[in-house]
Amino acid sequence: MTIPDPVTPVRDQGLPLASRADQLVGSMIDSSTSLLAAQSHDIVRFAMGSPAAEAIPTKVLAAIGAEEVGEASPDAFDYAATEGDLPLRQALLAELEGTSDATTLDRITVTSGGMQGLDLAFKLFVDPGDLVTVEAPTYTNGSATALSYQAELLEVPVDDDGMDVGALERLVDEAGRTPRVIYTVPTFQNPSGATLTLERRQRLLELARRWGSVLLDDDPYGMLRFAGDDVPTLHELADGDPLVFSVRTFSKTVAPGLRVGWVDTDPSLQPLLINAKQAMDTCTNLPAQRLVTGFLAGGHLDEHLRTQRAEYRRRKEAMQDVLASVFGDRARWTDPEGGFFLWLTFDPAVDTEALFPAALEEGVAFIPGNAFSPSRLFPDALRLCFASTTPERTREGLERLRRAVDRVAG
Ligand code: PMP
Repeated sequence: MTIPDPVTPVRDQGLPLASRADQLVGSMIDSSTSLLAAQSHDIVRFAMGSPAAEAIPTKVLAAIGAEEVGEASPDAFDYAATEGDLPLRQALLAELEGTSDATTLDRITVTSGGMQGLDLAFKLFVDPGDLVTVEAPTYTNGSATALSYQAELLEVPVDDDGMDVGALERLVDEAGRTPRVIYTVPTFQNPSGATLTLERRQRLLELARRWGSVLLDDDPYGMLRFAGDDVPTLHELADGDPLVFSVRTFSKTVAPGLRVGWVDTDPSLQPLLINAKQAMDTCTNLPAQRLVTGFLAGGHLDEHLRTQRAEYRRRKEAMQDVLASVFGDRARWTDPEGGFFLWLTFDPAVDTEALFPAALEEGVAFIPGNAFSPSRLFPDALRLCFASTTPERTREGLERLRRAVDRVAG
């Protein structure tokens, strides 16, 4: 699966594209949604990072919708405050109280999903040519967003304890200049599933302070821990340090189609966030905000998360059991304590981009490793989402994947 180059055909039309258009790289993850929608045969989908279809609380949301976004609520269809609908910001504040993301109202700006939070951060802090560090592997859309603001990327290795912060320091020394932004997905990382240890979080904060770099703390999966002990968020450890810019979303905990998330930043940044958002979407979709408000204010999130954590643990363990029986001789994989993803590396090597079309024919989809590295460091790896498929479908999907591997690798 390759992402079509968006620029060449437009240039061929003689249109006067801006220089930044050349750095718009798109996301192989998001493109897989359209690719899979166009297939008519049965496919086990390990590709997208979506909650299980059964995990979307449709009944509760529909009931809230009938009350809050129904015929009697025309105001729910109006423009809303750019910083977010006040009842949602208040409900969120109450929800976060006592957690590692506890905050104050003046720090919260509601966004159109986590992606808008990333876009706002890079837009506010990155000039063309600035250095931005990303993890290797990193979340594709995060690095793509940095590139869209013409950042220069430095890839920092990830191991079982998250970003290798010692390597970050060395690589920045070698680069001879400090990063404007350090981008990290610290908890149940997308795509590796790794969690940054407390010691590394503290060290990372020290480095950000020493360099004056913004620490972009993208943590959409933190509420989905199903094993091991909690680690404080970078937000908590920063204790109000304005260098930490935290991006959160309801996409993984409630539903991705809502497109509701938030950023937690120093209050002094909010006027700039508002100005930037007013040039993007004016305000986040109000009906969707009302649905989330009803979900939080009705006390549904805690119970929902309890059920989901238990189910995702079951699904991850089922995936690992099947991997051991189907790929025990052929690959190794990570052991996340939460979130949605496993990272699998073939040994001996298999080119996972060449594997993709064969796998699709067999009826299984994943995201090839190179999608998670701008310099394509992971040709032998792939990302599997364990959250969206039942254990039975997971077995079927991995057996199909094994057939594809045998076909491609001989
Ligand atoms: N950051 C990470 C690490 C993610 O995995 C995702 C979703 N895949 C996002 C941000 C974007 O979230 P949203 O869908 O809310 O825009």
